[in-house]
Amino acid sequence: MSAPLLELRDLHVRFAARRGGWFEPRRELHAVRGVDLRLERGGALGLVGESGCGKSTVARAVVGLQRPSSGGVFIEGLERASARGARARELRRRVSIVFQDPYSSLDPRLPVSASVLEPLAIDGRLRPRARRMRVLATFEAVGLDAALYHRYPHELSGGQRQRVAIARALVLEPALLVCDEPTSALDLSVRAQIVNLLDELRARFGLALLFISHDLAVVRRLADEIAVMYLGRVVERAPAQQLFDAPRHPYSKALLSAVLAPRPGAHEERIVLAGEPPSPLAPPTGCAFHPRCFARERVAQDRCERESPELSARGAQRVCACHLTDAP
Ligand code: SF4
Repeated sequence: MSAPLLELRDLHVRFAARRGGWFEPRRELHAVRGVDLRLERGGALGLVGESGCGKSTVARAVVGLQRPSSGGVFIEGLERASARGARARELRRRVSIVFQDPYSSLDPRLPVSASVLEPLAIDGRLRPRARRMRVLATFEAVGLDAALYHRYPHELSGGQRQRVAIARALVLEPALLVCDEPTSALDLSVRAQIVNLLDELRARFGLALLFISHDLAVVRRLADEIAVMYLGRVVERAPAQQLFDAPRHPYSKALLSAVLAPRPGAHEERIVLAGEPPSPLAPPTGCAFHPRCFARERVAQDRCERESPELSARGAQRVCACHLTDAP
């Protein structure tokens, strides 16, 4: 059996945090805490959660912009952090990223075609004429008119700039495109166009997507499977439809209740989460969600404050980390 396109194995990322004062002990921000995920070729995995939950740090680790503190990121069975030379270059070709703000990801001093051409020039496998042909073909694939070839980023609309950023990410023909909030800086109508484009590109090129967003409506449109993150951990993972139809973790229920229209006849109340997510510098004991959890009184005694629930499987494809759902 071949290795999955992307596999995260017990991924941890820690950062040294600034001290509050000279004489205070050094602190550590544990941004990603033991994440395990798999994504097959051509699949689409959505990673959701409030800001600060660690989803962008996961994205940066997948594309090699952040080194794991422990655990690993494996692309087609090869560990990203230990790859060197030709293997490291091949891994860089296989995985690309699109960021939230296209303006900051393009060089304002260069025509947009030069920004798209740059990865090909660094890669060095194609001759100059073939590179230009590839750039034009990529412009066409992302719906950009060739007349924009020599324009500068400030001359383009927000949607056109994001198409250029997608073209730059696709020009080396990656197998996996990591999208880190690629629509959050765009107007609603442009957002729908970019989502449709990503869906088309996935179908046309067999591209796999790791789609990171706090916008659940967008994730629902694109993802086959969804992982919900809270304070650095995955707390639920399920096929997208199953998660939207019947979320199991109280945090997933709260996230979804904020965006879904109530179903006719179903007496569903909107769940409003109390307070802000806790600081990753001082995570709560036991289940990190317990200070905000509306369901914890259904768990015996003070188990939620004492014991961190494991991510346990209930059924073939779903996993959930909650003491309520691991009860027999
Ligand atoms: Fe809520 Fe307890 Fe489940 Fe955590 S383990 S989500 S606090 S019920």
